Amino acid sequence: MKIGDWFDLAFIGAGPAAESGAIHARNEGIRTMVFEGSAMLGGQAGQALKIINYLGFPDGISGLELVGRGAKQAANLKACLKTQTEIQRITRVAGGFRLTDQFGENHLARRIVVAVGADYRSLDIDTLPAALGHGAQYGLPAMHEPYTGNVFVVGGANSAGQAVLTLSDSCSTTIVVRGSDFSAGMSAHVAEQIRANPAIQVLTNTQVVECVCGDHLEQIVLETNGVRQTVSADHLFILIGAKPRTGLVKTLVGLDDRGAILTGTAVPPRILAKFPGWVPLGYEASPGISAAGDCRHGSLPRVAFACAEGAGVAAQEITWRNDEPRFWSKDQR
Ligand SMILES: Cc1cc2nc3c(=O)[nH]c(=O)nc-3n(C[C@H](O)[C@H](O)[C@H](O)COP(=O)(O)OP(=O)(O)OC[C@H]3O[C@@H](n4cnc5c(N)ncnc54)[C@H](O)[C@@H]3O)c2cc1C
Repeated sequence: MKIGDWFDLAFIGAGPAAESGAIHARNEGIRTMVFEGSAMLGGQAGQALKIINYLGFPDGISGLELVGRGAKQAANLKACLKTQTEIQRITRVAGGFRLTDQFGENHLARRIVVAVGADYRSLDIDTLPAALGHGAQYGLPAMHEPYTGNVFVVGGANSAGQAVLTLSDSCSTTIVVRGSDFSAGMSAHVAEQIRANPAIQVLTNTQVVECVCGDHLEQIVLETNGVRQTVSADHLFILIGAKPRTGLVKTLVGLDDRGAILTGTAVPPRILAKFPGWVPLGYEASPGISAAGDCRHGSLPRVAFACAEGAGVAAQEITWRNDEPRFWSKDQR
């Protein structure tokens, strides 16, 4: 293999963590590749209707615009960005890693960063599948759809909170959470807006247990502290958290019970025992494999944290490059 075939650093996933990581790595001259399985760069942040907690945008910015700017910035700095390229296999080879995509094409990188984010969790209700696509859905309301009527949003994180706030402009809106505090997993500013909005009904200690659907969703059955009630429902949005998409690396790194990647001081003895003498850097999960953003144990699902971790990985790579010059020939910088 020729040196020219190799990238110094490859990000798997192109959400904010990878965009930020690629910008900072390229800024330091690291030859950087980013692989994104979907057709769009930017990850799930692109679905956020309005992000008001990112530095520099006092009036907020749509997620799509923010990550679009990030992708442009990474491209301007000559990061190599590849969409519709899902990495399906990672193999350790001499001097680094071989990443194999869905077409069977191989890509070589000295070191890799897993920045694959997380998937929505599902609800276990027998009658839900018939209602999906007919008023009930996983994920966010479409931005330009004119929703009306009775709308229920299940979930207690920012995505649910933001959906409720947006829908409350045109619908009778209820947020449904299983726990006793609807705001436990939400940014304080989102929770405050919900509390301050008398048009939003908050149901705690409550679960959706049944959907009644003809051609379209008609009713849902709610259970609160063991008591059931049937209510009229036109739309049901299910936003109940996310599971890290870490199946790809489960044999290579340690995962916590949620499936998030253990890095730095959290790397388990099982992994440490495989590499005697290796001391993990802060974002490293195994020698040469780092993790950043929502798929990393200890991360908080926010754009700024994902960006900070991406930048942190780049800083770590610079330190590592200076310590391990044998892997980084001059013409690679
Ligand atoms: C609706 C919504 C609203 C939100 N609002 C806010 C907000 O207001 N403020 C805030 O701070 N945060 C918000 N968040 C959270 C924020 O978007 C996430 O924390 C952030 O996007 C995480 O970034 P990431 O790079 O870790 O992962 P993601 O953004 O999830 O990106 C991961 C990417 O990896 C790709 N991928 C996965 N597997 C592979 C593979 N094998 N090969 C190639 N590519 C792969 C995925 O397709 C995806 O594009 C919101 C999230 C949602 C869903």
